Amino acid sequence: MLSPKLKPVFEEALEIFPGGVNSPVRSFAAVGGTPVVFSRALGATLWDDSGRPYGDLVQGWGPHILGHRNPKVEMLVKRQLGRQWSVGAPTPEENQLGRLIQIAMPHLERLRLVNSGTEAVMSALRLARAWTGRPLILKMDGGYHGHSDGLLVRAGSGAAQLAQASSEGVSTSTAAQTISIPFNDLEAVRVALAAYPLQIAAVIVEPVAANMGVVLPQPGYLQGLRDLTRAAGVLLIFDEVITGFRVAKGGAAQRFGVTPDLTCLGKIIGGGLPCGAFGGSRELMDQVAPLGPVYQAGTLSGNPLTMVAGAAVLQQISKPGFYEDLEDRFLAFYEQLEPMVKNLAHERGWGPVVLQSCASLFTVFFSSEEVKDWTSASRCTVKSYSQWFHWMLGRGYFLPPAQFEACFLGQSHDKAWLNRLLRVLKNGGV
Ligand code: PMP
Repeated sequence: MLSPKLKPVFEEALEIFPGGVNSPVRSFAAVGGTPVVFSRALGATLWDDSGRPYGDLVQGWGPHILGHRNPKVEMLVKRQLGRQWSVGAPTPEENQLGRLIQIAMPHLERLRLVNSGTEAVMSALRLARAWTGRPLILKMDGGYHGHSDGLLVRAGSGAAQLAQASSEGVSTSTAAQTISIPFNDLEAVRVALAAYPLQIAAVIVEPVAANMGVVLPQPGYLQGLRDLTRAAGVLLIFDEVITGFRVAKGGAAQRFGVTPDLTCLGKIIGGGLPCGAFGGSRELMDQVAPLGPVYQAGTLSGNPLTMVAGAAVLQQISKPGFYEDLEDRFLAFYEQLEPMVKNLAHERGWGPVVLQSCASLFTVFFSSEEVKDWTSASRCTVKSYSQWFHWMLGRGYFLPPAQFEACFLGQSHDKAWLNRLLRVLKNGGV
């Protein structure tokens, strides 16, 4: 039971956690104001601690493609509570989730389950360095791959609005092992590969960038990365922590028809409980301990509660037509949403707006130009985004509290829900 409230929850949180939060973007630092504290979630709705409902376009930052507390997930997790939670030994539950991932993504001939996207990426990079015997990693400006040291170099997401280009506390020698170049720029990849011959272990990319807002790969970009990396003996890593099971069942690899050497997953595969995974060909993954020399481990990895939640989600999204239905519904929604937000922004003096989307992901950029990379993203008017965010919050909608993030939709954003949102925009919230 919650203790009787002596002070507002967030005020208390400030006395316990740095900035009152356990992950920086939650603090509203990028939009101003005090974070809303949520006490209950169901489908596409969140309720704050006074019982006020909010339409949720964050959806836990991605795991809930079926909405909060999907009944089947909830039922199976409850049943699992009466069996086992974490035993630190092989279990049938991990096979079930692993198999479902393999079926959707056959290029993951072997995979390892971990507890977060950060862990998945960190481990994949270690493997890439071991496999190639090379030290350097190539990433894209504004790409976010978790908070491990070497990847906080010109990172997106919560790190994008920090004062520095990367985090304090990352040693110069570690940061120097990461080369960051613009997204959607194959020439920059060519130049980097030529500048560091036989030194680059891997190119890591969000195949649809979602941590500088939603930025699509330009036609031919992903295939170009595939060709250039293959020719240079460099591993191509798709960070599909967001795009995996979201932009298609088989992730961006399936949607764009490009197969990477290693894939990192998170979010949806854990059904809302902590989870990540990395995988690739059998030959490559057999380098991981205990078979090979690349050490990687985790006390809670593959824990049965997460496994059951993730499997319950993957089973439901495997039904034929699941992604097609979502895509049709959201395309029709975006077509109506974009002119309405443009109008609203015009009326309220927030300036020009561009909407960019991929499947159930979208971002409203306050910009006059298409966003193609971090340079164009950084030209957005973040003050206008804050105004839009607070306007929507005041009308009971919870958007990502920062410009450089994606809105997440899913199965529970049905037509009636989407139409309600459009009506709010049309009527100016009355
Ligand atoms: N990669 C990508 C593409 C992400 O979006 C994120 C988190 N949003 C991560 C890695 C890190 O995942 P986690 O927060 O689970 O460590």
